[in-house]
Amino acid sequence: MEVTAVSDGHATFPLSIVPDADPQEAERLAQAAFLPPGDLPMAINTYVIRQGTRTVLVDTGAGGGLGPQAGKQRDNLRAAGIDPASVDVLFLTHLHPDHILGMTTQDGTAAFPNAELVLHQRELAYWSDDANMAQGTEFERFLFQSARQAVAAYAGRTTLLERDEQAVSPGVIAQELPGHTPGHTGLLVASGDGQLLIWGDIIHLPHLQFVHPEWGVGFDVDPAQTMATRRRMLDRVATDRMMVAGMHLGFPGFGYVGRARDGAYAFVPSPWRHAF
Ligand SMILES: [Zn+2]
Repeated sequence: MEVTAVSDGHATFPLSIVPDADPQEAERLAQAAFLPPGDLPMAINTYVIRQGTRTVLVDTGAGGGLGPQAGKQRDNLRAAGIDPASVDVLFLTHLHPDHILGMTTQDGTAAFPNAELVLHQRELAYWSDDANMAQGTEFERFLFQSARQAVAAYAGRTTLLERDEQAVSPGVIAQELPGHTPGHTGLLVASGDGQLLIWGDIIHLPHLQFVHPEWGVGFDVDPAQTMATRRRMLDRVATDRMMVAGMHLGFPGFGYVGRARDGAYAFVPSPWRHAF
């Protein structure tokens, strides 16, 4: 099995997307991470899992929705020799724009013409619910609309996961990691002794949240559940010394999680490509 990171680029956000952050502590951590003052860069990664002739794509980046520094997945897939028409399964960790706007073309058709779409039933149910949408702000209503449009392009070839853990492909097991969104789901990729957890959006801003796992982002749908899931996963991968990959861990986003002082963690990046 081979897992390749494919960059979609990055976007920048103000610190206000982390409402719990103490600004002075955040500035200290930005400086310690050699980040410029002001807006924070956030990597947008996607992953390709190849098993023989079978190709599973995990998320699709931001398309044209998050500025000119993002939306590069399609070009980068081609640069890596991966034809969009060869993708058999398109797995989505969740339905936020930075993960789904690359799955359709400018005219709204499927960018991966032969792919079966796979996502958790709870994720689709949440974003399809008109009552949820009506409660939202204008920005949140945009999130609902973009989710619905993206999924609609794959009507008739969508598989919904219904359990907490479920195989997507041989050795590729979906694991529900709820909170950030109701059906947020990661993938455990296992082959022989090798294990990799592609954990989606457990962490958005590595230089802040490994040190302060209690700091969520403003677009976590259920902040308390998000924090509980993040703490559980950090503890698990640190204890099991399991390799992780994350959509916002800084390209390519492969690495390990170590324990640091006072309940903090530290991310240890590992080389950009792994075959096992
Ligand atoms: Zn995201």
